[in-house]
Amino acid sequence: MQKRVVLLGLFVLSGWRLFGQAHPPKLIDVHMHYDGEPGFLEKLLSRLYAVDGAAFLLTTPKAFDQARPFIDKHPDRLIGFGDIKLDDPQALELIDRFHAAGFRGLGEMSSPLKNYDDRGYWPIYQRAEQYGMIVLFHTGIVNRPDPSVAADISVDRMRPTTLDGIARRFPKLTVIGAHLGNPDYAWAAEIARWNPNLYFDLSGSSLIKKQDDYTFFKSIFWWSGVVSPHTPKSGTSAFEKLVFGSDVFNGEIEEFDREIERYHKMLDACGVPAEAQANIFAGTLWRVLNQKP
Ligand SMILES: [Zn+2]
Repeated sequence: MQKRVVLLGLFVLSGWRLFGQAHPPKLIDVHMHYDGEPGFLEKLLSRLYAVDGAAFLLTTPKAFDQARPFIDKHPDRLIGFGDIKLDDPQALELIDRFHAAGFRGLGEMSSPLKNYDDRGYWPIYQRAEQYGMIVLFHTGIVNRPDPSVAADISVDRMRPTTLDGIARRFPKLTVIGAHLGNPDYAWAAEIARWNPNLYFDLSGSSLIKKQDDYTFFKSIFWWSGVVSPHTPKSGTSAFEKLVFGSDVFNGEIEEFDREIERYHKMLDACGVPAEAQANIFAGTLWRVLNQKP
């Protein structure tokens, strides 16, 4: 009996350490970049408290020392993600370091020298799976901040379809593709339909591009209520393959408010039920974060 109490205590303690909130937040933002911008974490926290939200703080190794005390102090609002490069020779050591600090995921992975599903990256995905970490990948078109600088980057290595092989090969790994593969929406949604461990956010320019045509997304997430041997059994809205992400970077926190508004407009235009929207904004990832490794 006593042993059981001790075990329960340990479980509660580790649960608290893994994710500090006793009740589900109303919003979980999977895509919040942090590279040590001065004053940003204070601004972010006030936003998160205001909406009863939490954010995956995508923390570069450079910003780690600044981020860590904030994450430790606000475990109900900030969830650490290690923003590593797939081609960094130190990648595995960095993952160990982030994991030891209580970080729950990796990303945003971007600009790889090989395709995301290249076997050379498997040890990284294996380590993440072993630690129960979530991995966020950039998918689709990518910015070119300084066109005068030569860069070994190609969107072709970041196609959403490259996540299919990763999701299948690492079935316990939760994979999130950012930007719904912009503009490869159909491919992104179709591979998410068949991979229960794969989700996408819709941050970036898509909800601006499609602002006069939000019902377009009904043709992408088409399988709600469909019973067929050709689609996995599911009682949920097809839109629940989406999770919320704002893609705030360079400290531009205003994008957080704008992206919440765009998501609401699109989901309402597509008639997505309130219960499904609650899962998109927070419920789905709350369950992932709290599932046993
Ligand atoms: Zn991205």
